[in-house]
Amino acid sequence: MSPAALEVAAACKGFLDLDEGLCLFALARDHAHLGPIVEVGSYCGKSSVYVGSGARASGGTLVCVDHHRGNEENQQGQLYHDPEVFDPDAERLDTLPWLRDTIRKAKLEDTAILLVTTSARAAEVWTIPPGMVFIDGGHTQVAADTDYECWAPKVVSGGILAIHDLFPNPDEGGQAPINIYRRALASGDFDELPTVKTLGVLRKK
Ligand code: MG
Repeated sequence: MSPAALEVAAACKGFLDLDEGLCLFALARDHAHLGPIVEVGSYCGKSSVYVGSGARASGGTLVCVDHHRGNEENQQGQLYHDPEVFDPDAERLDTLPWLRDTIRKAKLEDTAILLVTTSARAAEVWTIPPGMVFIDGGHTQVAADTDYECWAPKVVSGGILAIHDLFPNPDEGGQAPINIYRRALASGDFDELPTVKTLGVLRKK
């Protein structure tokens, strides 16, 4: 990744470790030729810089799926609420301007398509098998299950399903992401690749 893109990612709001980001970059770069890279849950675009830079390196496309109203943990009064991304007129979060800004700064406007809707609605109209799907959306079990059920079946054979925020120890974090990771393994449709910190990586058979 270019130093300039790394700087944009580092300055961006969000929750992603550098090693996880570099892994996402390499995965996107190596699988973008199989189909579009889909990111479910972009927030302000920190991870989008990594997957988008990877897609761009291979002449591919990134699609950022997010309703931009924040997940449950981002809402007012919750642990990860950031008043800077609250739109007082809408009386709701709006992270879309932040994502656009990040995409522009990372020079990814020709690579990234921003799809502003829920994961489920995007999946309803989506017919192209993705080369990679990165799930980093809502952390309730219902939200995680929806993301898994909507997107895992769409991944092209040989493509990647990556899932963020795996915490084998329940004391360290919510269990919804690791639960869908285990569902994917139990389905028999995926092979396990090495996990990078809290980033789970699976390859579609
Ligand atoms: Mg995450």
